[in-house]
Amino acid sequence: MAKERRRAVLELLQRPGNARCADCGAPDPDWASYTLGVFICLSCSGIHRNIPQVSKVKSVRLDAWEEAQVEFMASHGNDAARDAYESKVPPFYYRPTSSDCQLLREQWIRAKYERLEFTHPEKQEPYSAGYREGSLWKRGRDNGQFLSRKFVLTEREGSLKYFNRNDAKEPKAVMKIEHLNATFQPAKIGHPHGLQITYLKDNSTRNIFVYHEDGKEIVDWFNALRAARFHYLQVAFPGASDADLVPKLSRNYLKEGYMEKTGPKQTEGFRKRWFTMDDRRLMYFKDPLDAFARGEVFIGSRESGYTVLDGLPPSTQGHHWPHGITIVTPERRFLLACETESEQRAWMEAFRKVVDRPMLPQEYAGECGGWGGGGGGPQHFLRGSDTAGRLSFSSGSPLQA
Ligand SMILES: [Zn+2]
Repeated sequence: MAKERRRAVLELLQRPGNARCADCGAPDPDWASYTLGVFICLSCSGIHRNIPQVSKVKSVRLDAWEEAQVEFMASHGNDAARDAYESKVPPFYYRPTSSDCQLLREQWIRAKYERLEFTHPEKQEPYSAGYREGSLWKRGRDNGQFLSRKFVLTEREGSLKYFNRNDAKEPKAVMKIEHLNATFQPAKIGHPHGLQITYLKDNSTRNIFVYHEDGKEIVDWFNALRAARFHYLQVAFPGASDADLVPKLSRNYLKEGYMEKTGPKQTEGFRKRWFTMDDRRLMYFKDPLDAFARGEVFIGSRESGYTVLDGLPPSTQGHHWPHGITIVTPERRFLLACETESEQRAWMEAFRKVVDRPMLPQEYAGECGGWGGGGGGPQHFLRGSDTAGRLSFSSGSPLQA
């Protein structure tokens, strides 16, 4: 009997909606919440375990199933749960995937089943009201210490501001929603709730790093920023559909990590730097948590003269790391070296992803996909466009160390 019941549960996994985790979309889930009636992956089952008041989990393959539990799973399942628990997810709300951090997946699961935010839209006010104010721990630019700062997000003004004192009249920084990005970076920031916010300052990309002790609070901030960008883009692009706008609300980096690089003359020694691949912009930093990039390279498409090559030119000297990459742009070659072969392969894959993708009209204008700002501060060797619609480089300005 027990065997038959397990076989019955396994058969339920064959139903189309049950072939992917109900919460993160990972393929072939083999755990289930038998109180919610959903099939989930091992990783999401760990999160469900922490909210026993709403969810109780079992392994499909290893645990014993009671008849009533099998029937409950049969009469519910992932499609039915989506209709019930995700009926009113705002279009801007970030739906995590299996590659997202634990925090995003946990808050999504809690928002759905514990707080019932997507069946009771009035509970979405913290991120849908168009205004949000509160304290976040912000990393100091120079000393690296986290200090409490007041943040104010106003959709009406199209800005996120922060203040050094609660009673301060003038904000320390005004970040335009138009140019803002937010992405969770727990490992880099060293806090499970660490959020990286980037914006344009004097035409250069500026990073700030924040967190809140409460996971719900920081994810609400993240979704409030996405909501503000969504409403900004709806006004800026009145004809665009939600499906067009949603991918532009925030973006995760294609890849980050250390590589060695040499300067433009390629006679200097290689130096180890932290690199961030943000869509078509390859930025490098001395420290992963630097406020500003030392420089950035725009990586266009194959059709416009960009290529990524395995290895370095034979005469290259001065690199300590053995696995080379050469980025060829219409203007010059960039020589990079990775510590391991797997890192080199991962970087090559990230570069090829953008090189193989045809450029959009706005990318020719140096706008980097409409994300605003092609960089142009003194430390940046990439500038805007010439009238021919091709990217031009300020060749006189060398790569900074
Ligand atoms: Zn999952």
